[in-house]
Amino acid sequence: MTFFRQLRWKLFFSHMLILGIGVIVLIATAFFLASAPLAMETPTSVSDVLGQNVPAPSASPPAGQERFQIVVEQSLLIAGFAALAAAVVVSLYVSRRIVEPLQELSLVSRRLAQGYYRERTAIQSDDEMADLASSINQLADALEKTEQRRLTLLADVAHELRTPLTTIEGYMEGLIDGVIAPEPETFTLIQHEATRLKWLIQELALLSRAEAGQLRVECKLLDLKAPILNVVAQFRPQFTAQEVTLNLDLPPEPVMINADSDRIEQILINLLGNALHYTPPGGHVRLRVMPSDYFVQIEIRDTGIGIPAEHLPHIFERFYRVDKSRARTSGGTGIGLTIARHLVYAHGGEIWAESEGAGRGATFFVTLPLPEPLPLAV
Ligand code: ADP
Repeated sequence: MTFFRQLRWKLFFSHMLILGIGVIVLIATAFFLASAPLAMETPTSVSDVLGQNVPAPSASPPAGQERFQIVVEQSLLIAGFAALAAAVVVSLYVSRRIVEPLQELSLVSRRLAQGYYRERTAIQSDDEMADLASSINQLADALEKTEQRRLTLLADVAHELRTPLTTIEGYMEGLIDGVIAPEPETFTLIQHEATRLKWLIQELALLSRAEAGQLRVECKLLDLKAPILNVVAQFRPQFTAQEVTLNLDLPPEPVMINADSDRIEQILINLLGNALHYTPPGGHVRLRVMPSDYFVQIEIRDTGIGIPAEHLPHIFERFYRVDKSRARTSGGTGIGLTIARHLVYAHGGEIWAESEGAGRGATFFVTLPLPEPLPLAV
């Protein structure tokens, strides 16, 4: 925005213009009246100019001092009228330039407040009004995106909840109609879907707390190897059952970190669970812990189905699945990594994934800060 286009300078110059017109007219009138021979019927007061008084005939021209007074009075009067006319014209113009955009901005803000997030202003000026209009448009953009995310989330949640419910409903109808035999496998299947529904609701509650920034982590000084060994012990039978080899590579010494043990377990369950889930029988998964000076890195590498490059940047987004149909049959929801990322961030760490592409395995990395070393006693 150039200097002279700023609103404050427009106002300043409009006042200066009125003043200037007044002064110029004053000087010009004074000059003209002083040099012109003064007629007998020349008005001598404001009311004369307004035509209210009929001038009285005078026998002789006015003397020097009187003439000076008449010239001053008339000049002031004419200059005053000229300045008034200029003030009216300039004020009308300037106020139109200010009031009209303000009215439009207030209309747009009202529409936004009513929930019409597509509303935008189209102010074309290049002064402070345009700045304000562009800020309001940015606000509208942000509101529209948030609303879009909210609607998508609602649709996703409804979809995720509907899937197990539809399965349960289908089995129940089959049982009632006698189409499905009341066998233990049928009840196990129904129970499995009910458990999945319960787990999904718990995950959704956790996700909503995390996204609202209300996820509490209660950090204590602990050996990172403890939660790792817990989770590994939990997963061992499943790895054996699915014929996937799990290798552990831990440093011999304790790895002390300030962390919430349950939350660390939750991160590992999500990552190790995925590694198992997406690695076919005969594959390998390796969990490695590498402490360095300021942080410790946990690496979970698998030889599974891998992640195509175009999907890598998105897998931590909520409800994102690389292969939706595959995930649907295998029960994936696309929430696990989003929660893991929130939990890692809550610990001040980083999480990312690498993969050389489909069929070439995937590696997930988590870094967590190490506690500050105690200052050496002197
Ligand atoms: P899901 O419940 O679907 O596993 P996640 O949020 O844990 O949800 O993962 C998101 C997506 O990332 C998965 O649907 C899957 O496509 C991909 N993914 C995660 N971990 C792996 C892995 N180890 N190997 C291949 N793909 C993976």
